Amino acid sequence: MASRHLDIACGKCGTFIVRYRKEGSGQLIRLYLDKVLQPKSLAALKSSGRKSSLPVLACPECDLHIGYPMEHEGNRLAYRMIKGSYKKSSN
Ligand SMILES: [Zn+2]
Repeated sequence: MASRHLDIACGKCGTFIVRYRKEGSGQLIRLYLDKVLQPKSLAALKSSGRKSSLPVLACPECDLHIGYPMEHEGNRLAYRMIKGSYKKSSN
């Protein structure tokens, strides 16, 4: 399956949030932790196992909320992305 790298930045101040390996096309609705490339601190959370241990995904500069923790299909940790809170660019 084709995949590409996406850089997600804060929609308000432009601070880099996450680099992501996205498969397929279409909207970014869920951000799976096991496809996060950067930052490593965020990618490492995939092994924490539970969404209750995930922080809200927020901009480190202005604290805008970008995504909320969720579990997809039982146990795959992800963030539900907040529409309009981020900008994305391919690389
Ligand atoms: Zn920001």
